[in-house]
Amino acid sequence: MRHPLPETGADWSDIKARMLDYAGGDVRWRDGKTAVYVFNAGPEVERVQKEAYALFMSENGLGPMAFPSLKRMEAEVVDFGLALLHAPDGASGVITSGGTDSITMAMKAARDYARKEKHVAGPLNIVLPRSAHPAFDKAAAVMEIEVRRTPLIDYLADPTAMGAAADASTIMIVGSAPCFPYGLIDPIGALSDLAVAWDLWLHVDACVGGYIAPFVRMNGADLPPFDFGLPGVRSMSADLHKYGYCAKGASTVFFRSAHLQSFMIFDMNDWPGGRMVTPTLAGTRPGGAISAAWAVMNFLGVTGYRAKQGLVTDTRRRIEAGVRAQGFTVLGEPQLGIVAFSHPEVNNFAVWGKLHERGWFTSVTTEPAGLHLMLSPFHAEVADTYLADLAWAVVEARASAGSAGTDARYA
Ligand SMILES: *Cc1c(COP(=O)(O)O)cnc(C)c1O
Repeated sequence: MRHPLPETGADWSDIKARMLDYAGGDVRWRDGKTAVYVFNAGPEVERVQKEAYALFMSENGLGPMAFPSLKRMEAEVVDFGLALLHAPDGASGVITSGGTDSITMAMKAARDYARKEKHVAGPLNIVLPRSAHPAFDKAAAVMEIEVRRTPLIDYLADPTAMGAAADASTIMIVGSAPCFPYGLIDPIGALSDLAVAWDLWLHVDACVGGYIAPFVRMNGADLPPFDFGLPGVRSMSADLHKYGYCAKGASTVFFRSAHLQSFMIFDMNDWPGGRMVTPTLAGTRPGGAISAAWAVMNFLGVTGYRAKQGLVTDTRRRIEAGVRAQGFTVLGEPQLGIVAFSHPEVNNFAVWGKLHERGWFTSVTTEPAGLHLMLSPFHAEVADTYLADLAWAVVEARASAGSAGTDARYA
């Protein structure tokens, strides 16, 4: 039966109590046992997010003339990102509602650029490594663009295979920094060479890396080049609501030049409501997502981000060492906040299930079957518990398989 809208309203205190009751079944991410969906930078950042969001919750980023405050905050956030990602003078960007929005809008820009500037007619395609995010497939489905995924080498994009898959109808090639499944940075330098040689639009998907990688590098890690410092990179996506620790509903999409970005903007005047210009997929744009991003970035600053991201990479190293000692193989050589690992002898999905029994909510990989963690600063406090629970889960999974099992589907 459908829930009817209550005939009369209730007190906020009752309503709040019922909401918290609903939340009783949710993962207890503040305990640190969740390593997917949520980025936990601690209670201070959470408080800034909340208060800053509430301050501009009713304002609308669709109206920059009505709300110059939001326009100003957005411009400053975009500037922070452009500088972190070594964008040249004249580069530009915008805040979107999330990574999927950023990717969709970059693809729309690349498509319209191909049609208008390069006069590409007929069916179009994009070329991406097997590890790239499904957001590209979603955008391609919406725009009826063919997706060509190429095999990986050592879990990384293979520029040779991608070059072979590209043709005159290719509107975009993609590299991830890093990819979500393995947390590895693709060889963006070689993809940039390819893009320059063939005049291809290279998009770097730094949705999950854009606001951690620059600080990890500042902390001394030897990261390969992955951003606008490479001449072939024309656009990048970087999610504020991931390792930027901003409130959800905030990502950035950047373009090497305002000219390239101009192909993203939708400008419509042919209706009775007057001219409507929208840069992103959204019409109404939540002011809170913009103000919370601005506030968190100013709250943390370079020093704050370096400290948070240092906790993440230290924890990742501890987990890597711990899982290796338990017989797991780490997939590739992660350098940021995601790590995936696979046990050659036990049913990895059964291990996942056992960990879930102990309250861990994490992700998996399927090629090969393995466990996947997207680490937050808060995980520094629970890494030892995780490793102990993992050791227990491996023993349990071995016992329930009776012998070395093969990987079955996990429920
Ligand atoms: C999260 C993610 C996306 C999609 O971002 P959403 O904000 O979830 O829409 C795209 N690419 C990568 C690599 C990601 O990790």
